Amino acid sequence: MADRWLEVGDGVFARRHDELDLTTGLVVGAERALVVDTAGDREQGARLRAAVRTITKLPLIIVITHAHFDHCFGTGAFPAGPVHAHPRCRATIVATADAQRAEWTRHYRDRGDHATADALAATDPPLPGGTVDPVLDVDLGGRTVGLRHPGRGHTDHDVVAVAGDVVFAGDLVEQGAPPDLGDAVVADWPATVSALLALDVSTFVPGHGDPMDRAEVTTQRDELAEVAALHAAVARGELDLATATARSPFPDVPWPA
Ligand SMILES: [Zn+2]
Repeated sequence: MADRWLEVGDGVFARRHDELDLTTGLVVGAERALVVDTAGDREQGARLRAAVRTITKLPLIIVITHAHFDHCFGTGAFPAGPVHAHPRCRATIVATADAQRAEWTRHYRDRGDHATADALAATDPPLPGGTVDPVLDVDLGGRTVGLRHPGRGHTDHDVVAVAGDVVFAGDLVEQGAPPDLGDAVVADWPATVSALLALDVSTFVPGHGDPMDRAEVTTQRDELAEVAALHAAVARGELDLATATARSPFPDVPWPA
């Protein structure tokens, strides 16, 4: 299926991408619009920018949910303007951009997807500001979007965007695939999802997959709590890693290092 917009609220849109089943966001105010994440390379970013321009010509503000390349390497395709993120997001991009680019360029080459590999290899993402610490309210004219660091989880610097009764949750929640634990702070993650559930919202837009409701996010929070309990048991020496992995709700997901 081609990339497409879903309208998830009044002037609030989720962009569904074929590549990695990514989901980005757009919130349109009276004077400015907010783009949530910029996709994985400069070509994907340019396609997202063009899609945004079919909806609004307003000046753009960007928020990056976290430092994984698929969420932030497209930033350079957008006009110069504010790019918000958590301070540790900025630091993580500085520390890991080269390694992420190398790893994923290899991934795309191995799959024979040389166009995406070439685009990624040629992408040097601009750095976001470290402005969301832990909260930043962004005035779009006639509406305010709350940028929040609700706690550590998928990474140590996840930021969400709250627009009316919608929250763009980045990879703190995932639909259609298990959560990615690779850079996770597993012990904190369930409480961070509980903080999202404490928001007065009804739609949770994940970083990958389709929008989720409160019941789906609650289920995922409980599964993450099981993972956290197993992780703690391994750390205490009460379980070996193979047993814990087999008992995990996500047995095929690699555990964090
Ligand atoms: Zn991620």
